[in-house]
Amino acid sequence: MIQTMAHNEAQHRMRLFQIGDPVHLIDLKGRTYTFELKEGARFQHSGEFLTHNDLIGQPDGTIVALTRGTRLLAVLPTLSEYVLKMPRGAQIIYPKDIAVILLWADIYPGAAVLETGIGSGALTLGLLRAVGETGRVISYEIREDFLQRAEKNIALYLGKLPPNLLTRLKDIYEGIEERGLDRMVFDLPEPWRLVGSAGDALRPGGILLSYLPTILQSSQLTEALHKDGRFSQIETIETLLRSWHIEGMSIRPDHRMVAHTGFITSARRIFPASAG
Ligand code: SAH
Repeated sequence: MIQTMAHNEAQHRMRLFQIGDPVHLIDLKGRTYTFELKEGARFQHSGEFLTHNDLIGQPDGTIVALTRGTRLLAVLPTLSEYVLKMPRGAQIIYPKDIAVILLWADIYPGAAVLETGIGSGALTLGLLRAVGETGRVISYEIREDFLQRAEKNIALYLGKLPPNLLTRLKDIYEGIEERGLDRMVFDLPEPWRLVGSAGDALRPGGILLSYLPTILQSSQLTEALHKDGRFSQIETIETLLRSWHIEGMSIRPDHRMVAHTGFITSARRIFPASAG
């Protein structure tokens, strides 16, 4: 009885593959092959293939067999799987940093968030998910080719470009048009040049966060934030993620890890104390 109920519920909650979905096929060694699901198309692999039509209507998480019997797991990629495999214009922010940025910048449902630059759109996807349908993401990007690449990546993952993503093809150092923003996330080389305009564009209580590859950049940004006088709670962190190998008696950290990606500096825009 209980089993039947669980089974029914599982069927109820099934997500079936449909045309336009991004698909990841994963083999036993964890190698991943990606494509967009298209009517009549074929996935070719070492002389074998799978017709897309065979996958359409199957549930997410299905094991599929290629024409000569090789079995692969077919899934709708998680956000972190997707960003690691999507085509890149600019270098992306890695999932371990996106995860922390979303909480350290306190991105919440309904927030108005400005980011720059959009790059390949990895962070943008994380921000869009965190602000939800009632929030807004505004992305400044100086390079048209990167902006187009990012928009394609975002549209494939979400099924379309969401109406609450506003992109601006411009150099953000020339000025920020928005006012009353809740959050700002910077991924560009000289964020200290934006401290003044960020102070004007952020609402009091708002948060500025910047991702930077070198600590000298973090230092320069920190000095600029102190000097501006409208920022408090200034801190810099980095994230180290270590995966483990767990197999029988062999239980230990993996031999290799990514030692460095970038530093995360954040600060809170404060309301100036009234005179006296
Ligand atoms: N966060 C992105 C990667 C951004 S890479 C991701 O996760 O995919 C940095 C981006 O900033 C590049 O696309 C670059 O073109 C853009 N950029 C650099 N200087 C800029 C400026 N002054 N104004 C707007 N965008 C800028």
